[in-house]
Amino acid sequence: MKIGISACLYGHKCRYDGADKKNEELLKALEGNELIPICPELCAGFPIPRESIEILNDRVLTKDKTDLTQQLYQGCVSAFEQIKDCDILILKEKSPSCGVREIYDGFFTGKTIKGSGLFTRYCLEKGIPVLNEEDFM
Ligand code: SF4
Repeated sequence: MKIGISACLYGHKCRYDGADKKNEELLKALEGNELIPICPELCAGFPIPRESIEILNDRVLTKDKTDLTQQLYQGCVSAFEQIKDCDILILKEKSPSCGVREIYDGFFTGKTIKGSGLFTRYCLEKGIPVLNEEDFM
């Protein structure tokens, strides 16, 4: 299978804090598949490191309420072009871009709520199945 995977899960240091979330167990389970790492926030032109963002009332905001919704949306469109022929995507849970069933609550409290990130929503609307990193294990 051809599988799009959040670049931070693959090992790229593309998170807002300059770290990765490399998941060795997941990568082992995916051996034999063609993996396409993708980071919609880098596609949006966001720097590393950068301020963290959360979704509140369908807007993508920094803690000081700078609205990055449109910029991230364009990043999702651009990222999608790179993974549009994938069979499935495996994206990083809780991220405002890649979260699948859970995201932070929009108040920067560390609490999570049910919901999905902007890139996940976009890919699902386009018809690509999306799993999180634990679904595949
Ligand atoms: S946007 Fe997705 S791929 Fe990029 S750092 Fe956040 S969770 Fe990882």
